[in-house]
Amino acid sequence: MPIYEYRCRSCSEISTSLRKVSESKDPILCENCAGQAQRIVSRPSVHLSNMSKVEKLDPKYDKMVDRAMNNTTSADPERILKKMKPLSDGE
Ligand SMILES: [Zn+2]
Repeated sequence: MPIYEYRCRSCSEISTSLRKVSESKDPILCENCAGQAQRIVSRPSVHLSNMSKVEKLDPKYDKMVDRAMNNTTSADPERILKKMKPLSDGE
């Protein structure tokens, strides 16, 4: 379960709570004064992998490469194998 942050409406104290995603928007009771605390959006802690960073930088590029690859005969590994001659062939 993710940890969410909540700010109290009365005393502005920040409380954190480990909750289900589906319950994250429900207000909790302030740890300081038991007033209503509403969820605040904290900085995302998810780190992107290098691959997803590349995809975010240029998503069109990947699709272009995929399309180009599918249109070439080299996209079919069977063709490459058929072109190869056995090493013992010819001699
Ligand atoms: Zn409070």
